[in-house]
Amino acid sequence: MKSRLIIAAMAISTFAGALPAVASSTNVALNLPSLGDTEREDLSPLMERKLGERIMHDIQRDPDYLDDAPLLEYLNNFGAILLAARPEARGEAGFDFFFFALRDPVLNAFALPGGFIAVHSGLVLAAQTESELASVMAHEIGHVAQRHIARMLGKQRQDALIPLAGLLLAVLAARSSTDASAALMVGGEGVAMQRQLNFSRDAEREADRVGLQIMRDAGFDTSGMIAFFGRLQTASRSYTEAVPAFLLTHPLTTERIADIEARIRGLHYKQRVDSVDFQLIRARLRILQDDSPQGLREATVAFNNQLLQMNPGQTAAAKYGLALVALKQGATDRARSLLQEARVAVRAVPASEPSKNAIIPSLAIDIELAAKRPAEALKDADIARARYPLSRGIARQYADALIAGGRYDDATQYLRDQAQLYRHEPQLQDLLAKTYAAQGKQALQHLSLAESYALTGTLPAALEQLSIARKSPDASFYDQALIDAREREWQARWREEEKETKK
Ligand SMILES: [Zn+2]
Repeated sequence: MKSRLIIAAMAISTFAGALPAVASSTNVALNLPSLGDTEREDLSPLMERKLGERIMHDIQRDPDYLDDAPLLEYLNNFGAILLAARPEARGEAGFDFFFFALRDPVLNAFALPGGFIAVHSGLVLAAQTESELASVMAHEIGHVAQRHIARMLGKQRQDALIPLAGLLLAVLAARSSTDASAALMVGGEGVAMQRQLNFSRDAEREADRVGLQIMRDAGFDTSGMIAFFGRLQTASRSYTEAVPAFLLTHPLTTERIADIEARIRGLHYKQRVDSVDFQLIRARLRILQDDSPQGLREATVAFNNQLLQMNPGQTAAAKYGLALVALKQGATDRARSLLQEARVAVRAVPASEPSKNAIIPSLAIDIELAAKRPAEALKDADIARARYPLSRGIARQYADALIAGGRYDDATQYLRDQAQLYRHEPQLQDLLAKTYAAQGKQALQHLSLAESYALTGTLPAALEQLSIARKSPDASFYDQALIDAREREWQARWREEEKETKK
C-alpha cells in the first residue's frame, strides 16, 4: 500500500482500540469539571491555529486530500450554516473553520487543532440525510468550541510547535498502520500522545451536547444524531475486524446514546427537506472516492439503480453522477446531454432552498474544457461567475477557460487581480505560472511557482524556484528586485523554522 500519511490519520486501527479510552470513567455524571475554565493551562488559540495550519500543509500534500472545489464549497457552506447558528463556537479567537474531505471509505471524521475538520468520503456517502451529516460535523465543531484538543495538548511554547505537529502527524499515521515499525518509531512520547488523542467520555458527551444545540438552532432534525450513530454501530457489525473509526475515536456507549436520547426528547421535532446539493455532492463524491475503471463501472450501476427509485432528488443526482462518469470516460457529448437532463431533473425537485453551490455549472465548464470548446467554457464560466460570485472554484475555472482560449493577456490581468484579493490561494499562482509558461515568460513563471510553494509551506522548493527565476534570461531589473526581496523574507522564515525543528 502506498504511504498514505493522512488517510492514515485517524483512520484507526486495532492499535487505537486496544488503548484505554482516556479519562475518568469513574467520574460519572455528577458535576463535570467545567471544561470552559479560563485559567490558561491549555494551548492558546493562536498557537492552536498555528499548529492546525502546520498539520494542514502536510495533509494538503497527501494524494488522498480531496482538493475539489465543488466538494470543498459544499462542505464549507454547509459548515457555515451550522456555525451561524452558534457563532460563539468559533471561540475567543474567532476561528475560521475549514471543512475538508479525505478519500477514504472508512467511516470517520475528526477535528484538528484550530478549527480544521475532516470528514472521510465514506462517512459522507453513508449519511442518508443532511441532518445525519450535520450531526457528525456539529459534534466535531463541539470538540473545537469546547477547546478539547487545546486542553489535551496543554501549554506549549511557540518553539515546540513544529516538533509537536510532526509528532501528531506521526501518531495519526501510526494509528492506522498495520506496520508495527511505524508505531515503534513514534516511540514512548508518541504512545503518551496517542493516549491523549482519544477524547474522554466527558468530552464526548459535551461535544454531543454542543452538537445537538447547533443542530437544533440551525434547523436540523436532531434525531439525525441517533439515526446516524446507530447506523455507524450497525455498520460495525458487518466490518470484519474494525469498528467504524469514528466510534473508536468517539466511543459510543449505551450511556452516551441514552444521554443523547434524553436531550432530544426535550426538543421540538423538526422535519427538514434536504437541499438538492446534498444529493449532487454525494454523487460527485462517490466518483472522487474511486474513479478507477472498476469504480466508474460500479458507480454507473449504482446511479442506474438510483434512477429506478423515481425520486426527483435521486434522479437529478444520478443524472449528474452519470454525466461525471461520462466525462471521466472522455465521452464529452454524452456528458453534456446527461448534465442537461440533470438540470431538468433538478428543477423538478421540491427543495427546501434553491441550490447554493455551483455544482452543476462547474461540471458544465469542465465538460466544455475537456471537449476543447474554450469559447463555450468561457461563456458558461462568465454566467456562473455572475451567479456564484463567492465561488472560488468558478473564479479559477474562468481563468482556465481564458487560458484554454489562448487569451493569455486577459488571463494574466484577471489572475493578478484575483491574487491581490485572495493572497493565500496557491492555485491562483499555479494558474499564473501556467499562463506565463504559455507566453514563454520564464522568470515570471518560476516566480509564480515560487509563490505557490511558499503558500503551501514548502519553502525549500520555493527558494529553488526563485533561483531558477533569477537565472532566467528574461528576468527584468524589476523581477530581480522582487526575487531578492522574496529570497530574504523566505530565507529568514526558513531559518526560523529550522531552528524550531531542532529544538
Ligand atoms: Zn467526539
